[in-house]
Amino acid sequence: MTLGSLAVTGNAFKRSGAGLPLSYSDSMPYCHYFGPEVDTIEYLDRLISDQGSGVDLPAGVIVETIQAEGGINVAEREWLLGLQALCRKYDMLLIIDDIQVGCGRTGSFFSFDDMGLDPDIICLSKSISGYGLPLAITLIKPEHDIWEPGEHNGTFRGHNLAFVTAKRALELFWSNERLQKQVEAKADLVGKALRRICNKFPHARGRVKGRGLLQGIEFEHAELATTASRIAFGKGLIIETSGPESQVLKLLPPLTISEQDLKKGLEIIEHSVGEAIAELGISPKQAASG
Ligand SMILES: *Cc1c(COP(=O)(O)O)cnc(C)c1O
Repeated sequence: MTLGSLAVTGNAFKRSGAGLPLSYSDSMPYCHYFGPEVDTIEYLDRLISDQGSGVDLPAGVIVETIQAEGGINVAEREWLLGLQALCRKYDMLLIIDDIQVGCGRTGSFFSFDDMGLDPDIICLSKSISGYGLPLAITLIKPEHDIWEPGEHNGTFRGHNLAFVTAKRALELFWSNERLQKQVEAKADLVGKALRRICNKFPHARGRVKGRGLLQGIEFEHAELATTASRIAFGKGLIIETSGPESQVLKLLPPLTISEQDLKKGLEIIEHSVGEAIAELGISPKQAASG
């Protein structure tokens, strides 16, 4: 909503909502943006170190460990560690936007737990309230926190009820490893089901992406994702798409979903993909000819 936030989103539709040129940030290629052969950390290092590159030294780097809206692009641990090393080398802050993939979405509380990352600032929102209430928090290392209480504020910030539910959710779900274990088990189930769907419809050219309870299928036939999503809605299942061409059918179930509901949802997805293929007239022969 703010020009600062819009300046760091990659989404052209959201950016155009600003109605102004967006400034004070540069976008840099993500892990594997040019395929597995190109090391984009090296690219970034060169641009920053070269006084003639035209790129100024940034104060910080904002990154998602998995680009969720961006099409479930998963950054490799080595890449993230390389980015952290670069931040330390040039005295830039490492800011991780864990809003969509944190709070247990990938199993552990933060999406980067056990990766050896130590971000200076972490953004959390969405599931942090534990109850679908609006709440967002920014974790800042004390040495970087120069704000006075309430300095950066607004009328509806500090949502009291959400504070209460968030505290309760943290106590309930993060005082032991039960939720994490459950998420891991359900993630396994989701991964298997999605791979089965891809194998069942090879001409749809689907590829399973993601981690934990953020997984999806990227279709080479981009329209399949939107069509399957619409068909699933008619069958009582809300499922989003993501990616620049809306080519990824993206699962984002509640972490506390029962195994029974999850299986039912996965069945609906399987049927919806099958029907979408039929509706779009994608035949094995057609796929073979490209
Ligand atoms: C939803 C989302 C946001 C926006 O969160 P707000 O709390 O609405 O500001 C930012 N980053 C990511 C990755 C998101 O998924």
